[in-house]
Amino acid sequence: MQSIYGITRKKLEAYFEEIGDKKFRATQIYEWLYRNKVKSFDEMTNLKKDLIEKLKQEYTFDDIKLVIKQEDELTSKYLFELNDKHRIEAVLMRHDYGNSICISSQIGCNMGCAFCQSGRLKKIRNLTVSEMLLQVMRVEEDLGERISHVVIMGIGEPFDNYDNVIDFVRIINDPYSLAIGVRHITVSTCGIVPKIYALADENLDINLAISLHAPNNDLRSKIMKINNAYPLEEVMKAVKDYIDKTNRRVTFEYIMLDGVNDKESNALELAKLLKGINCYVNLIPYNETSHIEYKASSEKQIKAFYDALKQRGVDATTRKRFGNKISAACGQLRSKEL
Ligand code: SAH
Repeated sequence: MQSIYGITRKKLEAYFEEIGDKKFRATQIYEWLYRNKVKSFDEMTNLKKDLIEKLKQEYTFDDIKLVIKQEDELTSKYLFELNDKHRIEAVLMRHDYGNSICISSQIGCNMGCAFCQSGRLKKIRNLTVSEMLLQVMRVEEDLGERISHVVIMGIGEPFDNYDNVIDFVRIINDPYSLAIGVRHITVSTCGIVPKIYALADENLDINLAISLHAPNNDLRSKIMKINNAYPLEEVMKAVKDYIDKTNRRVTFEYIMLDGVNDKESNALELAKLLKGINCYVNLIPYNETSHIEYKASSEKQIKAFYDALKQRGVDATTRKRFGNKISAACGQLRSKEL
């Protein structure tokens, strides 16, 4: 049986038409699920008994179970258990502009980036649309406040679970669901080129972030194995196409690894690569993990890199570190299990 959560309104409308009912039932169900947050069909008091029985036969109310919540000042890390007992994490960050959640898209990850601890656990399976959605809903419920921003940057490669991620985005963006604006939704990819082209055609206008981390193929292939399948030139071509089609500004993420990619010469090469592209660079202080030999660049080095980019007209920001005390920062999720 399918979960009632995680079906786009369009698909639900098609279902009701197919069974000879009215399209607007989909909106009614959405309001029950996402506004009133009911947890059973019986609570949907404007539906007829026989329809409720039919829905019960075809759909379930699945859930994810909160196992542990860890907190520091601005961050909470939620460990959830899924129906098949696998565990995933989501991270809540309290920003001055609102509550933002970083959700996982897969159990494990096959991308094998050398610096990322989260990716050491091989992919077991994709998360379903409902499992992604329930991360947002259950954290929101625990918090008792609205979540206004969603980033798909937890464990997993979202573009390796593309169809589910797109449905998830359509649902959280739906005005009858959580109504999270597209400008408040960000998906981050290590650079799966065909899906960058695909996203450009979805008419979705969400924020796209590319994990770049190196300004040339030699260096990038050393730290990101995906670069062998989709080298830098192909990623850049796809990004340009994305910007042409959507008119959106793209973010390039760049982890600062001491002595690896943080020299001034790397900044110059990066500035050259990004020249004339509507983008900005998000410099990410590396979160060190116990199992991996990479070290974080010093603040001084990050500042010098930042200045070198700025001087060459490339817009840059430095990512604020969240949650490293509770191993909730980028690249640290699920590290306890390893
Ligand atoms: N698979 C997606 C999204 C998950 S990772 C992607 O690759 O974009 C989210 C971001 O955290 C990526 O830019 C990733 O490269 C970065 N990251 C991974 N390990 C990190 C670490 N230890 N410190 C800082 N950032 C890290």
